[in-house]
Amino acid sequence: MYDIAVVGAGPAGYSAAINARKREKSVIVIGQNTGWLARAERIDNYPGMPGVSGQQMLDAMAAQAKNMGAELRGGVVHQMIDMGGSFALSLGADFVEARKVILASGAKQPKRLPGEERLLGRGVSYCGTCDGMLYRGRHAAVIGAGPEAVSEANFLMSLCASVTYFGKADAELDSRIKVRDERVTEITGGMRAQGLIAGGEELPFDGVFIFREVMALSSLLPGLEMDGAFIRVDRGMRTSVPGVFAAGDCTGLPLQVAKAVGEGCIAALTAAQEIG
Ligand SMILES: Cc1cc2nc3c(=O)[nH]c(=O)nc-3n(C[C@H](O)[C@H](O)[C@H](O)COP(=O)(O)OP(=O)(O)OC[C@H]3O[C@@H](n4cnc5c(N)ncnc54)[C@H](O)[C@@H]3O)c2cc1C
Repeated sequence: MYDIAVVGAGPAGYSAAINARKREKSVIVIGQNTGWLARAERIDNYPGMPGVSGQQMLDAMAAQAKNMGAELRGGVVHQMIDMGGSFALSLGADFVEARKVILASGAKQPKRLPGEERLLGRGVSYCGTCDGMLYRGRHAAVIGAGPEAVSEANFLMSLCASVTYFGKADAELDSRIKVRDERVTEITGGMRAQGLIAGGEELPFDGVFIFREVMALSSLLPGLEMDGAFIRVDRGMRTSVPGVFAAGDCTGLPLQVAKAVGEGCIAALTAAQEIG
């Protein structure tokens, strides 16, 4: 059980972790070091670090958080479950438990496919490790983006009769997996998923697994109050869900490192104060 779990390994998340450690709270940061800042060639408007690349800045923040005792863990949080007094964060088949959660997940929000939400848990899954056994000897599709997609597809290939992979593979896929370039536009099926539409063609599958770098906030934590595309927060960075805070690009404009770092600090200090 951690005092604080931070969802998102960007400047807001690392700032939250550093400030939580200054208050001697145990903290875990979950996410890949590959968010928006990693794409910035050069940052000139962050005080004290002129001219560094986004990746250099991220690496320095990650190292500082780690040196101060924050635990850093790769992966994508799929869902948060309110346990009444603590939260369970699911990372595939694994869970992390924390008293407070700081959402620092950035501004990018994935668009869900037509049929995806309706058929989730009925042939559509976000976790091969959890649900793969249900498709033993059957035919699975993987819609892949992000760090987990390839390893999960390879795991599914060890169980399923066939795996077809739609998307860009960041690592080596099992040679038995069929790769298709067409973009998937819909998941099909009535009571259960029956397949998908890709390149205008309807293709049958028993199960459809979807892996993304980020999760839609509405599926990560249903009931979170929004302000348009952004999470509604108060001045202490509290969200509408008690015990859950938000910081950085996910709370609104301006989408800037300095604002993300400032909000990460406030979120951590408010969370630490509530923990006592
Ligand atoms: C090309 C480019 C140039 C830029 N130049 C500048 C600049 O010069 N100056 C400036 O101030 N700003 C600049 N920015 C903006 C700056 O990068 C962002 O404002 C800043 O990174 C926001 O920080 P954040 O921590 O809120 O979000 P992000 O940096 O986006 O980090 C969020 C992280 O959370 C992860 N995540 C999301 N959902 C989950 C989940 N469910 N589980 C686990 N992890 C999750 C994401 O993968 C990501 O790693 C630039 C952005 C880009 C793209």
